[in-house]
Amino acid sequence: MTRKPAALRQQLWRDYRALGRLLRAMTSQGPLIPGSFYLMRRKCGKAACRCARGQLHPAWVLTRTEAGQHKLYSVPPDQRAGVRQLAAAWRRYQRARARLVKQVAALLRLADQIAQTQRLDWPAP
Ligand SMILES: [Zn+2]
Repeated sequence: MTRKPAALRQQLWRDYRALGRLLRAMTSQGPLIPGSFYLMRRKCGKAACRCARGQLHPAWVLTRTEAGQHKLYSVPPDQRAGVRQLAAAWRRYQRARARLVKQVAALLRLADQIAQTQRLDWPAP
């Protein structure tokens, strides 16, 4: 709190420019597919199947929430590479978005700090 307004302003504009870079990266990365892509192991339900004895069936899936509902899509072998890549792009976007939320909050704290240094007591105590 002992920093001078000029130093705070300098910091503010530096952070503001970093925000611009982050936004540009977030909005210029191309196609993405919402969801998590991963290898799931599950039982099919048949009592005589090997999965009932612990040898679960592997399945590559994409999961996501749609209108509050948890959805699970199995991904055909020929589409796995593509879905994997585009779901990773989605994850990168979400991470960057979370970073943006933090950086915006930090920017506001800085702006408030600058306003505090300009504050006058009125009426006089
Ligand atoms: Zn089975």
